[in-house]
Amino acid sequence: MTRFDPGQLTETIAAVSTPPGRGALGIIRLCGPDTLAVLQRIFQPRGERNHLTSHRMCFGALVDPRTGQTIDQVMVAYFAAPHSYTGEDMGEISHHGSPVLAAEILNLVLQDRARLAWPGEFTLRAFLNGKMDLSQAEAVRDLIDSRTSYQARIAEKQLEGSVSRTIRPLKDRLIGIISHLETAVEFAEDLPDTEPTARLTVEMESVATSLAALEENFRLGHLLRRGVNLVITGRPNVGKSSLFNRLLGEDRAIVTEISGTTRDVLREPAQLFGIPLILMDTAGIRPSEDVVEKLGVERSYTAAGQADIILHVMDATLGLLPDELSLVHSLPQDNLIVVLNKQDLPPRISAADISRMVPDHEVIPVSALTGEGLDALRKAIHERLIPPSFRPEMENSLITNIRQQQCLRNAHVELRLSLDAAGEGVSEEYILYHLCRAVRALDELTGRTTVDDILERIFSTFCIGK
Ligand code: GDP
Repeated sequence: MTRFDPGQLTETIAAVSTPPGRGALGIIRLCGPDTLAVLQRIFQPRGERNHLTSHRMCFGALVDPRTGQTIDQVMVAYFAAPHSYTGEDMGEISHHGSPVLAAEILNLVLQDRARLAWPGEFTLRAFLNGKMDLSQAEAVRDLIDSRTSYQARIAEKQLEGSVSRTIRPLKDRLIGIISHLETAVEFAEDLPDTEPTARLTVEMESVATSLAALEENFRLGHLLRRGVNLVITGRPNVGKSSLFNRLLGEDRAIVTEISGTTRDVLREPAQLFGIPLILMDTAGIRPSEDVVEKLGVERSYTAAGQADIILHVMDATLGLLPDELSLVHSLPQDNLIVVLNKQDLPPRISAADISRMVPDHEVIPVSALTGEGLDALRKAIHERLIPPSFRPEMENSLITNIRQQQCLRNAHVELRLSLDAAGEGVSEEYILYHLCRAVRALDELTGRTTVDDILERIFSTFCIGK
């Protein structure tokens, strides 16, 4: 039986929707045609005016019908189809948040008619019932997974349909082009040619530019989703671990005056203006015969290779050390910021001196000890991540997910192929073929056309109960 056997998708399902562990409340969710029957079997409303009505919370007792024993006092909400999250009959049982109770109530629910839901099955049903498109379903998962308020804000916009709202007009324009071309093909003998093709090419170019802009924003969207790799490099003792701790806001890395303390890459999640970061402190880079230290230095370079931003720390009190410039140049050059540390002590070199030597890189003077210059450094990092051309309203069209970006890329490639064909004067059928494929790629993005394995891939990454 395949995962998306349509037969199984009409069954009644149930799952614990709250995280494992103790809490004030726990929630068990049900969905499917037998929801009301299951609830009526195990739930006894208390009070005269209390009975299960759609979209009303109802207080009462959960009772095991086999033993007559009360299991818990609960609140039950029933949502009659189609006005529910999934579009089907749904129920939510809010019980006291003990894992033992959760297991007992779930068992009770599963005793007849209901089966345990697959991960993401509630949202899958919402998608299949047309309650949301695929990008919105993915946003549900992103919202649950979000670690910073900014991530949550973007996911919430996507849940409200920001991706589809961005894609739809582009798709409509492509369909407009297709219908014009189809008319041209059908009535080829009656219509004077050239004029439409030239006009349509301009329109195709314009859609291609919009697709390219969305793809461009994906770089930021993707970083927001996965977190920015921010790697701190430099020679031993320049203050890398101190800076790491400062940016983290806690004493995570050991700071000593003994050089070579950090031997491995330390990774910690952090955030900057709501942008999730993975902060990495690395072993100090210097020539060494020590096997462990050499390995540490290798790992520093590996981490630098994966960095979205490198903070290369120098010690202002030491002046320019021999080979410091070649060390800077041995690191990836894109998005490297030089941090000139220990500004609280008399410096032997200034930020301006270093700027002259490495003109391609911004140099920020700081003191990891006192915190001086840290705001300027945070601002510089932020500016690297959010390009100056990025305006706040562009958040509404951010593509954050690789699957969606691949669909965009496919649409763009197909559109380019149709433009090439138009440029070469190839027959309209050929142009149409690629235009239709571009539309199909956009449909895949929002889930209008999908195949089961894509659905399986997406929804298996959800938690159970969502
Ligand atoms: P790392 O080896 O590059 O990670 O350097 P650490 O962070 O371990 O710091 C090495 C030494 O420099 C420690 O004694 C720190 O207290 C000191 N240090 C780090 N940053 C500063 C700073 O901004 N000012 C001063 N005065 N000392 C610092």
